Amino acid sequence: MSKNIDLQQEGIQVKKSACYFCHQNCGVLAYVKDGKVLDIEGDPDFPTNQGGLCCRGNIAMDHLDHPARVNFPLKRVGERGAGQWQEISWDQALTEIAEKLANIRDEFGAEAVATAGGTQRTDDWARRRFMNLFGSPNGFHNSHLCWIPTFMVETAIYGWCPFDLDLGSSRCLVLWGQNPGVSGMPEIHHIMELKEKGLKLIVIDPRYSETAAKADMWLPIRPGSDLALALAWLHVIIYEGLFDPEFTDEWCVGFGELAEHVADFSPEWAAPLTWLTEEQIRESAIMYASNKPGNIQWGTSIDQIGKPAGAAMHARALLRAITGNLDVPGSDLLTGPSLEYVTDEEMEANDQLPEEQKAKQIGSDKFKMVTWPGYSRIAELTKEVWGKAPTAEWMCEAHPPSVFRAILTEKPYPVKALLVSATNPINSYGETKLTLAALKAVEFMVTCEYWLTPTAMLSDYVLPIAGALERPTITSSYGCADFLLASQRAIQPMYERRNDYNFWRDLGVKLGQKEMWPWETVEDAYFAKIEPLGYGVESYDEFVENHRFHFPEREYQKYKRIGFATPSRKVELYSSTLEALGYPPLPPYIGPAENETDDPEIAAEYPFVLTTGGGHMPYHHSEHFQIKTLRFLSHEPYMSMNPAAAAKLSIEEGDWVWIETKRGRIKQKANLTQAIDPRVIFTPRGWWYPERDMRDPELGGCLESNTNILTSCDDDDCDPMSGSWANRGLLCKVYKVTAENEKEAK
Ligand code: SF4
Repeated sequence: MSKNIDLQQEGIQVKKSACYFCHQNCGVLAYVKDGKVLDIEGDPDFPTNQGGLCCRGNIAMDHLDHPARVNFPLKRVGERGAGQWQEISWDQALTEIAEKLANIRDEFGAEAVATAGGTQRTDDWARRRFMNLFGSPNGFHNSHLCWIPTFMVETAIYGWCPFDLDLGSSRCLVLWGQNPGVSGMPEIHHIMELKEKGLKLIVIDPRYSETAAKADMWLPIRPGSDLALALAWLHVIIYEGLFDPEFTDEWCVGFGELAEHVADFSPEWAAPLTWLTEEQIRESAIMYASNKPGNIQWGTSIDQIGKPAGAAMHARALLRAITGNLDVPGSDLLTGPSLEYVTDEEMEANDQLPEEQKAKQIGSDKFKMVTWPGYSRIAELTKEVWGKAPTAEWMCEAHPPSVFRAILTEKPYPVKALLVSATNPINSYGETKLTLAALKAVEFMVTCEYWLTPTAMLSDYVLPIAGALERPTITSSYGCADFLLASQRAIQPMYERRNDYNFWRDLGVKLGQKEMWPWETVEDAYFAKIEPLGYGVESYDEFVENHRFHFPEREYQKYKRIGFATPSRKVELYSSTLEALGYPPLPPYIGPAENETDDPEIAAEYPFVLTTGGGHMPYHHSEHFQIKTLRFLSHEPYMSMNPAAAAKLSIEEGDWVWIETKRGRIKQKANLTQAIDPRVIFTPRGWWYPERDMRDPELGGCLESNTNILTSCDDDDCDPMSGSWANRGLLCKVYKVTAENEKEAK
């Protein structure tokens, strides 16, 4: 129990709260007296963190009442970006925002209002419900980079996407572009415990990461060449007879076509594309296929390679299938949605959005897997087999770069308003110059935030949002898993802060949606979700205090009872769903968005391969740069390059360097490390400088070290299935910052 609080003091309550600073949502105990949080610590009874909190989790008290927090609704009174605000009431803000949105809908149609979101730590179903009732299909997140394309492609192949790993009895774990040694504290502890018991660990990562250092095999792959590796693994596993013939015969369709398809994708073929040796490719494929059961941990790096992303997800999914590592003990589990509690999808009111509005979703004509065409088909199949569909928020969204282009060009139609919640698109979305131009051009922008971020600074209204200790939360993994973890608010929101749920509900009420929002508080809504679980509780808080978790009994090999949620009810190695949507039914080889083989002229000018987007402690995406104790741990942006490559460019440790792609350049400091291939550059994401002038054009230095300036959202560089853009595997050059070149405009 708390080290700093005398629990014998009268009136101290212990609240079961959660950390909100990354997706792990670790359990927190908050010690509260007279409506004030006295201290927090990790909840020892929480199944994931078991009492631990990382450096981010431990700054919750600093975050709660930080002097830079937005505490009152703000209305812009000066020029956009000038930082002149008037404090107003919530009622005034919501009335004026509702009036403006209604006018835009009358003049341009509901689709002219879009929303941008961030990581899933808000009530996304509430945002979706609002948008469905308002009539717009144009909600989006950074979901295209964050597992959602993987979910949809894998669901097309075997009817759901493994989210839950049954690691306990696994014999081999593949971490594909994942570094839980930095990004997932509870995960890495568990993996290390299992490793001591004999778990084989394969880490695929261009960098010799904290996790790679613990691996049995480390594959230092060329960034963006994951598809070539996955195809070669399929080749080895099939042609060396390491597949599971019982499973492929009985439960898969298209094995013959797949075997023929991968005949040429040998390790010899893949070695030059991946920069791995033939032996590394063969040995690692054998290690995965022969140590069964095994897992390929879910992760997001493949979602971020742009053009080859969809095919790479497809090929990776086939690896699980042909080895039979699906839904058996110790493998990757297809839990399906929960049939016991009300899922997010059931709260979204997707049936309220008319078909003609769905058809207007921006990007759905080009990128069909995570927009209405693909989602409708997947939802139909999963409802037939599982009884429920995956959540539409995240899985079925407008294509963000295309929305930004629509703001600038009015094509395919005008987008006039953007509601931003829990994100800072200038630092977190791709191709920053495009995003920034759109945010400056959009007629009306509202941002719900903790801080005055660069994006908030360009807004017409900024609304103060409650943080982790001020709000309850349910973690049910986007509705993709069947368990549920529940937490309560430690205190009511301070100052004039509100839950994002209340923002969407109250705005909806102002726009005539009252009947569709029967839950006045977020606890009322959560109670409606958990009530069918049958715990006999009278309120959501009572559920948290007495139960807190719901883990259903594990049922393995559910496919034997219900089949796979595909048209054939089998694993479709040859995918009829992808084929029907106009995509290749087997994964073709597609090179990285920019590469030395297909683009020799670009490679001549930009000789390094860039990888961006990796998580870096102590930050989460573009968050926490204001928190001094965290900034102390990482106070300046450091890119990584090999000392041998640096020496050729006369770059020394700590020098400021430019990293430049065809799209622009950024400035970071050089960290010289043997842990990276001499041909590769790594840049951390998210950087901005809240201590600088936050007014336009400085906007907290949001263009100076922001790696998203280097990425590409060009349609041709995007994955044709999902539209995910290229964050990794692009070509770049590096040179020292000098007084002269600093003056050059780029
Ligand atoms: S930031 Fe750290 S403490 Fe908080 S949820 Fe994530 S891993 Fe847990």
